[in-house]
Amino acid sequence: MLDNNHVAIIGGGCAGLSTAVALLDRGYAVTIFEASSQLGGRARSVVVENNNLMHQLDNGQHILLGAYRETLALLHKVGVDEKKAFLRVPLQISMQAGNGKSAFSLKSVNILPAPLNMLFGLLGCKGLSFTERLAAIKLMVYLKRINYQIATDTKLEQFLIDQQQSVKLIAMLWEPLCLAALNTPIKNASTQIFLNILRDTFTGEKSNSDFLLPKLDLSQIISQPLSRYIQEKGGVIKLNKRVRSIKVITDTLGKESFELSTNKESHYFSHVVLAVSPARVDLFLATLPKLQRVYDQMQSYTYQPIYTIYLQYAAETKLPDVMTGMTGVADMTKMPEQENIISQWVFDRGQLCGQKGLMAVIVSAVGKHQHLTHDALALQVARELHHAFPALTKPLWHKVIAEKRATFSCVSNLTRPSNKTSQAQLYLAGDYTYADYPATIEGAVRSGIACAGLIVNS
Ligand SMILES: Cc1cc2nc3c(=O)[nH]c(=O)nc-3n(C[C@H](O)[C@H](O)[C@H](O)COP(=O)(O)OP(=O)(O)OC[C@H]3O[C@@H](n4cnc5c(N)ncnc54)[C@H](O)[C@@H]3O)c2cc1C
Repeated sequence: MLDNNHVAIIGGGCAGLSTAVALLDRGYAVTIFEASSQLGGRARSVVVENNNLMHQLDNGQHILLGAYRETLALLHKVGVDEKKAFLRVPLQISMQAGNGKSAFSLKSVNILPAPLNMLFGLLGCKGLSFTERLAAIKLMVYLKRINYQIATDTKLEQFLIDQQQSVKLIAMLWEPLCLAALNTPIKNASTQIFLNILRDTFTGEKSNSDFLLPKLDLSQIISQPLSRYIQEKGGVIKLNKRVRSIKVITDTLGKESFELSTNKESHYFSHVVLAVSPARVDLFLATLPKLQRVYDQMQSYTYQPIYTIYLQYAAETKLPDVMTGMTGVADMTKMPEQENIISQWVFDRGQLCGQKGLMAVIVSAVGKHQHLTHDALALQVARELHHAFPALTKPLWHKVIAEKRATFSCVSNLTRPSNKTSQAQLYLAGDYTYADYPATIEGAVRSGIACAGLIVNS
């Protein structure tokens, strides 16, 4: 028999899981269908084998911000101890040049309240001229004055040029931040979404600008505690259940409900939350006549890759910092021809989560690295690490995880669908539906919570 308040959630990533928690808290019955054998979606751990040894790695090295308030509140609710799960570090960016020298460093001044912590951090940052530091501070003051809101969205690179940010300042400060936050080349990235992240990071509590680096693997922090909570509250989780189709059924009184089909079974629900990634959602949208407009919207979406290159060195190998930016530029005061290097950020997983000697190198967005084989890419990245940190010699093994459609391209003026659709009782959840943010865990969680709110209030 059809329960009037039984919600099917298709997709067990951060958006689907947070929708489930919020609905269960309000007394709804929930069933999650997840196509793969584990929950967590893009924010999950994977097991890889090397020489008969199994290693637990993350699908991609993730960073959270202190400003991710809904994610942190959700994790707290399901029993995650923040201190055990994350290393919380005040905002700090240090860029290492290919010649083994520090090219740029910025540290927020932690004794000061926000935004002075960042403004004084900029004033004292190394690797930029006084004029450049002043230009960065002027921009931050201007952004605060306009409340981080521009009249019309525009491409970030052009916006920064118009704001008198020099080529070097863009290359050293704004571009790495843009890639880390939006995973989209600065040429096309949305200024407004970038400003939203700056607003949430640099206003309010100064802890908003902290980085939270996972000390445990992602599944231990996200999907396992969330799934425990969901099941304790009576939610049903069906793994390895790819939903193939959604059919709208109308009863004799004109009331609509849904038939969901997997390979072998059909199930009936009063509500559906479609919480799959934007790259997969149009498979469903194409078959639902009332969702044709969203289907058309999604055709303009493009995607950006993220490559994570894991390099295992001898156990005693350590980097000076747990997280370091990489730049080809050797001497930032002269801004010579930028040497093209592939590596963008390197994380020392030994210091972070006890995986001694294991480095995770992140390469965001499109680039020449995509044309290399995984072995050639690992070799090139190992070479770059060796130049920047001579102690890093030959890795013992490597593993490249390439997420080809890691995030949607967060370009300017992108139209984002909302949670509510023209099909009654069918909702969308996912990072791409939270219009204020780029593809992030926080965007996914906020969209899930908003979606549950709409169902409860419908
Ligand atoms: C390599 C990488 C690095 C990243 N780094 C960061 C970072 O540092 N900080 C940050 O905040 N964010 C980061 N992100 C982005 C973040 O992981 C995502 O924004 C977030 O996890 C998206 O969650 P979601 O629930 O919207 O979608 P997804 O995680 O994609 O979840 C969708 C789920 O739906 C399932 N599914 C699909 N089709 C079906 C079907 N037919 N039936 C049933 N189930 C189905 C999928 O298997 C998946 O589990 C990164 C992403 C990647 C890939």
